[in-house]
Amino acid sequence: MNKLFIVDDDMQTCNLLRTVGETVFTFVEVYQQGSVFLQQKLTDQDVILLDLMMPDLDGVEIIRYLAKGQSKATLILISGYDRGVLHAAEALAQDHGLTVAGNFIKPISTSELKQLLISLRSSIKAPPMVTKTIIQTQPLTTKVTFVPNEEDLRIAIQKKQLVLHYQPQINLKKQTIVGVEALVRWLHPSHGLIYPDKFITLAEQSGLIEQLTEEVINLAVAQSQQWKEQAITIKISINISAQNITSLFFPEQLGKLVQKFLLDPSMFVFEVTESALMGNILTSLDILTRLRLKGFQLSIDDFGTGFSSLSLLHKIPFTELKIDQSFVLNVVNDTESRAIVETCVMLGHKLNMEVVAEGIENKATFDCLLDMGCDIAQGYYIAKPMTASALNTWVNKMKTNEIFD
Ligand code: C2E
Ligand code: MG
Ligand code: MG
Repeated sequence: MNKLFIVDDDMQTCNLLRTVGETVFTFVEVYQQGSVFLQQKLTDQDVILLDLMMPDLDGVEIIRYLAKGQSKATLILISGYDRGVLHAAEALAQDHGLTVAGNFIKPISTSELKQLLISLRSSIKAPPMVTKTIIQTQPLTTKVTFVPNEEDLRIAIQKKQLVLHYQPQINLKKQTIVGVEALVRWLHPSHGLIYPDKFITLAEQSGLIEQLTEEVINLAVAQSQQWKEQAITIKISINISAQNITSLFFPEQLGKLVQKFLLDPSMFVFEVTESALMGNILTSLDILTRLRLKGFQLSIDDFGTGFSSLSLLHKIPFTELKIDQSFVLNVVNDTESRAIVETCVMLGHKLNMEVVAEGIENKATFDCLLDMGCDIAQGYYIAKPMTASALNTWVNKMKTNEIFD
């Protein structure tokens, strides 16, 4: 049976939490000292309400101990301090592999806490005995997840199994399509559609990323040429990895490729993440500057999550700033995410960049970004990544305003 542990040095808070906890959990234990709590035996089904600020062992120390013991219990963090402290502790716990279901600032909203406890109570896995019987009733042919290796990927590139899906980017104010982000997928003959999180790191580590990017660029150029023939004006954003900005010939090769098909280089945006720039900064600076000189556009992707300094924005001639989706996703309810997004919009505009928000999943987020003056929107609320032919249909629907129904 799962237990609720309350760990807080303040007696009043403990009493309040116990009252709420006992309406949901049969077993509730209260500890006013972190060191005593740590002597208890925890199971994977337990839930811990943990105060961060305690005199003997603080919450962060307890997080460290739990991580060391590879605890699978679920944490809910509490703090009398600001949200910044809570977020930092939550990120730390998650980086350590712990599960954090939520966080609360004191004074705690008892109704919200009760709601969370109820949802946890019903979602937490059944105890091991029951799980075992379930496993035994599973058919023996359980699907094995495909973990590709270098050779699989090499063959995939050679056999042209990589395809591009395109996710629309729209002008927030005018609500018209301005571009798409090209996102690579692997169409495996027996394992179906495989997403980039399963093979980009492999490509980067095995050195196959150069070939992969070359294939992605060829596919994007071919698509752009088709759109040009159909008189459709859509920019294509292409993701490039750190290794792609180490070859000094990259800008020349690209320049020749678009020239060959008589395409306008400004219809291509190369997206680079902050972390990709942290390698050889001089070489990256050389390559990126020459890409701009040849008329290509440059975007700084996942902005806000890397470790770049502002001087990087000053040195590299980016034309677009793409705010990371982790901030965009929370812009409506989280004051810090909102402050970060607002600052990114302002910073981008001051530096003459277009600002893109990705990860817009609902109308409230869309409206919020529109209010903030963000230029371009991308996200599931507008459309998920899709094939080129599905995109053609989508563009036609967009013209008749049917997409937000
Ligand atoms: P990214 O460049 O930041 O791309 C955005 C990712 O967010 C895409 O995932 C997209 O499907 C997803 N996304 C878009 N809107 C939403 C939303 O509203 N909510 C949520 N939860 N997600 C949304 P995808 O396609 O799985 O790509 C993941 C990452 O893989 C990309 O992140 C990019 O870093 C990398 N990647 C994709 N294609 C390529 C490529 O051709 N080359 C390289 N080097 N990396 C690529
Ligand atoms: Mg991207
Ligand atoms: Mg991104």
